[in-house]
Amino acid sequence: MTDNASETIAAATRELVDANHILFDQGVVDGFGHVSVRHPVRPAHFLLARSMAPGLVTEKDILEFDANGEAVEAGGPTAYLERYIHSEIFRSRPDVNAVVHSHSPSVVPFSVVTGTRLRAICHMCGFLGSDTPVFEIRDFAGPGSDLLIRDNSLGSALAKSLGDRPAVLMRGHGSTVVASNVRQVVFRAVYTEVGARLQSEAMRLGPVTYLTEEEAAATTATNNGVIDRAYLLWLKTARNRSMVG
Ligand code: MN
Repeated sequence: MTDNASETIAAATRELVDANHILFDQGVVDGFGHVSVRHPVRPAHFLLARSMAPGLVTEKDILEFDANGEAVEAGGPTAYLERYIHSEIFRSRPDVNAVVHSHSPSVVPFSVVTGTRLRAICHMCGFLGSDTPVFEIRDFAGPGSDLLIRDNSLGSALAKSLGDRPAVLMRGHGSTVVASNVRQVVFRAVYTEVGARLQSEAMRLGPVTYLTEEEAAATTATNNGVIDRAYLLWLKTARNRSMVG
């Protein structure tokens, strides 16, 4: 491998560690949940931490996984059970370079009710658009599963439910958010949680006026230009409160 390739991988690894810490610090993940990035040199592969709490991840915990969601290095540390979320989304969505799976709490209610869908309620959440799909694992794993995406076939079913959207809810479990890079996926994961909280609060007050599709698209375009403002603030606060390094 060239020095250039090694440095590219090292930089992607460092950014993924930062993303783990930010998502914990912002309350998107707790002891559970994970974030991945498409491998910058081998695009069929991806980088993801070993099975551990995101807030404690360091560079040596980041592993390379193949297109089937298996660790490239055999006999390594335990991997997340739900790594197939990442492998199947990277396989089916060439536009996606980063994935967050979380159980962020304000989102879960929208995965279990009928008649109400998570959608864009404010400009920071414009990327959600007018609807967020809900994945019903019972349709694929039957009535007695532990709700986890434990294999490629469940990962593939989840990816189909996601379709071309930025987020998919997982009934009784959590959500998965995708984006074209790590900073954007962190931004979207944070604002999916914020949007869900605001939508729940608004619905308690009365009938809700949502963003139009056009407003959703326009606000998304604007926000895409200012992601670093939030990201660099979140990175600083995460580092100040960091429990590692
Ligand atoms: Mn999960």
